[in-house]
Amino acid sequence: MQLAGRVAHMTGDGSDGWEIYYRARDLKARGVAVVNLTIGEHDIRTDPRILDAMAASARAGNTGYTVGPGKPDLRRAIAERVTARAGVATGPGNVMVTPGGQAALFAAHMVTLDPGDTGLYCDPYYATYPGTIRATGARDVAVPTRPETGFQPEAEAIAARAAGARTLLINTPNNPTGTVYTRRTLEDVARVAADHDLWLISDEVYDTQLWAGEHLSPRALPGMAERTLVVGSLSKSHAMTGSRIGWLIGPEAVIGAVTALATNTTYGLPGYIQDAGLAALSLGAAFEEAVSAPFRRRRDLAVACLASSNRLRLVPSGGAMYVMVDVRATGLSGNRFAERLLEAERIAVMPGESFGQAAAGHVRIALTVDDDALAEALARLAAFAEGLPDAG
Ligand code: PLP
Repeated sequence: MQLAGRVAHMTGDGSDGWEIYYRARDLKARGVAVVNLTIGEHDIRTDPRILDAMAASARAGNTGYTVGPGKPDLRRAIAERVTARAGVATGPGNVMVTPGGQAALFAAHMVTLDPGDTGLYCDPYYATYPGTIRATGARDVAVPTRPETGFQPEAEAIAARAAGARTLLINTPNNPTGTVYTRRTLEDVARVAADHDLWLISDEVYDTQLWAGEHLSPRALPGMAERTLVVGSLSKSHAMTGSRIGWLIGPEAVIGAVTALATNTTYGLPGYIQDAGLAALSLGAAFEEAVSAPFRRRRDLAVACLASSNRLRLVPSGGAMYVMVDVRATGLSGNRFAERLLEAERIAVMPGESFGQAAAGHVRIALTVDDDALAEALARLAAFAEGLPDAG
């Protein structure tokens, strides 16, 4: 029996970039101690108050089907949060609740791209981006960004690839680089999107993890609310990765299309997960700050630990739960550096190449172990880099 070509088209024929993670996981399963700095997941679990709300809702009977774009009270709470944080008027009709940010990314591309269209995204990129675009039958085209300009997207690079494109996917604060796009960058991006009549899909799942600069949602820029779809999630902001709850914000017609898509795919989120999401949002900004605080602290720790290295250069980061390190002075690729680090020190980091060509010669370090373990791992990582033979 023959399968449709869709999944093969979606996954491509290359590696998925997670080899170091798999290797670290196998070593751990064999009883070898490995410091795992690969994956973007908190070292805390979901807050008991959120879990209590989830359990109470389920016990109260919210275990049946839920259909449509989400429970009205949750959509209202998300709309209020987006209005307050982004500074752009948002009503419940602009909100679709989705099973995580990933489902929102998928839905956004499904309703804006036809097979054969082109979808743009910035390189380096979050691992699922190319596959998400290809899943629609569209062609994925990467727009390179450069380490020399702090991985900020550049208008000329986007414009050069915009002919025939219908969407542009951006991400700030950025995974994997930690870059926070400046107002200037976002104004340039908005101008190119308007000039080329692109939908702008703005992944803002790290909007509560901000260490420098300001988080600006491009949907707030003049004329952009009609063409911008914003992806949000409680995964990172509220340590709820496994609950699968996020949202898509956009014009009401888009929310209508995405709702029709959900009717034939996810069929909505469990009611008790939606109630847990509402409880999470009601904990307010202080809670969100408490969840993000360890990453701010550890980012500062990384700056201090790597400051004196001759071989490693930290990419200046403004947000998200990662730091990116330029290892090119060692003469190794990001892949080779990560492999040798795992062999020699039993420390697992992600090669920059896993996130595209623009991050070649870099590694991404997830700040997801406790401060002492991170400080020790970074000291060993720096010593490992110094001990490598001259790049010559
Ligand atoms: N977008 C980015 C940039 C991410 O890093 C992630 C997860 O790591 C997601 C989206 C998806 O998150 P979730 O589906 O858990 O909301």
